[in-house]
Amino acid sequence: MSDVPLSARFLTSASSLADTPRDHLPEVAFVGRSNVGKSSVLNCITGARKLARTSKTPGRTQLFNYFDLDVGGRLVDLPGYGYAKVPARISAAWRIRISTYLAKRAQLGGLVLVMDARHPFQDKDVNMISECASAELPVLALLNKSDKLSKSAKLKCLHKSRETLFALQYGADDLILFSAHTGEGAEAARNWILERLEPE
Ligand code: GDP
Repeated sequence: MSDVPLSARFLTSASSLADTPRDHLPEVAFVGRSNVGKSSVLNCITGARKLARTSKTPGRTQLFNYFDLDVGGRLVDLPGYGYAKVPARISAAWRIRISTYLAKRAQLGGLVLVMDARHPFQDKDVNMISECASAELPVLALLNKSDKLSKSAKLKCLHKSRETLFALQYGADDLILFSAHTGEGAEAARNWILERLEPE
């Protein structure tokens, strides 16, 4: 169990599968539509206030950014998707690279899909989860910004999200209400990640 942040440090960036780290350290990847708070979630989980800023520096937003964890294993920050400002041709190319990664990366132990709890499971998210299901890759549906929901809205959101996840072949353990601002769900998210980093 981990109620302390998973300390991490930036290792490298990769622009294609050919550039990715060649060792076989287990990885958990993070992905999400733009502005869902993926960087804030990564910072919260690792306890580093500016860790994911690395991924946002000009020139790095389209790259796969790797962070080594002190406990062993690696987190991978994948490019965000659904940016209004990015031409469709370019975002389609990122999407293909992400799909290839999810399907082919042997040491990938799981994917954390960050969504906004106020409007989760948009078409692009569902497509991503379906691809993971086909690849038999564990997925954590992380519903961020839970602090924006009332208590009853949280319950409703959890209930509906569970149904959606079941239909996509995932279970209740693969769903976490999270707030990068309050830390809600951080311990559960860290534990989910640590389990996916353990060797089989
Ligand atoms: P990214 O583009 O997905 O990496 O998102 P950022 O981490 O840059 O966050 C986008 C915006 O959402 C920023 O204004 C954050 O302050 C805000 N944000 C991120 N996480 C939370 C959260 O848990 N609660 C609330 N209320 N706002 C959040």
